[in-house]
Amino acid sequence: MVIVGAGECGARAALALREEGFAGPVTLIGAEPHLPYERPPLSKDTMADDAEPMPRHVASLERLSEAGITHLGSTEVRAIDRQAKRVHLGGTSLDYDKLLLTTGSSPRRLPLAESSRRCVYLRTFDDALAIRTHLRAGIRVLVVGGGFIGLELAASARKSGCPVTVVEAQPRILMRGVPAEIAAILHAAHAAAGVHFFCGKGITAIEDVVAGVRIQLADGHVVEGDLCVIGIGAVPNVALAEAAGLVIDNGVAVDAHLRTSDQNIFAAGDCCSFPLALYGGRRVRLEAWRNAQEQGALAAKNMLGAGESHNAVPWFWSDQYDLGLQIAGLPDEGVETVRREMGEGALILFHLAADGRLVAASGIGQGNSVARDIRLAEMLIAKRAYPPREKLAAADAKLKALLAA
Ligand code: ADP
Repeated sequence: MVIVGAGECGARAALALREEGFAGPVTLIGAEPHLPYERPPLSKDTMADDAEPMPRHVASLERLSEAGITHLGSTEVRAIDRQAKRVHLGGTSLDYDKLLLTTGSSPRRLPLAESSRRCVYLRTFDDALAIRTHLRAGIRVLVVGGGFIGLELAASARKSGCPVTVVEAQPRILMRGVPAEIAAILHAAHAAAGVHFFCGKGITAIEDVVAGVRIQLADGHVVEGDLCVIGIGAVPNVALAEAAGLVIDNGVAVDAHLRTSDQNIFAAGDCCSFPLALYGGRRVRLEAWRNAQEQGALAAKNMLGAGESHNAVPWFWSDQYDLGLQIAGLPDEGVETVRREMGEGALILFHLAADGRLVAASGIGQGNSVARDIRLAEMLIAKRAYPPREKLAAADAKLKALLAA
């Protein structure tokens, strides 16, 4: 069993192969020098904690070696020979029976920023360390992209005392997947923390100047900073799969079993697009921590012949300041919204399809305040439930009772 990509997904798959009882060789190959680590903290604790940051490993070296998993770090797979069932590592090669691609995604690059030495991207632990060294009181931080990376970074930079300006091309932040009302709550929290926003503004030029980096906006505004962090989305890493002739469709295309167009090759996590059974087989690609975990585990089972279909509900979270956002399901599947106000500013929006089926729930509130109800909503979504609107709206009506009904 050979796994290409040693992030969350690949590491979970390697461990799951053992949990499923596989006793043969397992090799986990990754381009980064580190043991597999979790990425969610990179824009949060890694940036703003006082302590010297360390990668949060998915599994320690001891655990990997106890499990008999060979981790090849700082190693890039150059090519897949599908006929010979072999991967080439530059110099050496490795034969496989089943291959799993968990190659993840890379930050989408902004062409206008290519000549600036002050524009950076955040994906790896090393990227995070490099950005962190700049986050000191008074260092002016520009953020391009009001998505999750950009906003989490903005919150961390404010905690460190940096003046922060966010430039977002769309009319509002978090257009992708977050309902407007919830995005507005986050926008207000950032504004209250002192973040400046330019939304709905295209960028016409980015240049390094003596005093920093300067961004020219289409409406004539000019913003300046010492550092510019770009978070304008991610693209799936498909070059290896594409060169091997696998079918690509917004990521490596896999079926419900996470199998690619080659029956001996699977793909999982950020790099793949898959049919989501819950929404009539709609093909999606998810960049989310839990999806990486679940798909890693499922791919491992199916590499061993289980033939199990993916049927999880997408789930996503973000922490910014003291606010926790959680989304279960895909809100854009809904045509109608029911609001549940839960006190102390916490809010859940339930998204219903045209026939009244619950297809998603988005919640925001202090800390973990929406976690329990989002978890219950997720179970209702998985059950394809049709909960009565008045019960969803009433904060004192227990979702648990709806689940039992
Ligand atoms: P990420 O994982 O990088 O945070 P998201 O998709 O959550 O990705 O957010 C990316 C954000 O960047 C979106 O809000 C999108 O509208 C914004 N964006 C994309 N291209 C540009 C651009 N050229 N200038 C400013 N913002 C952009």
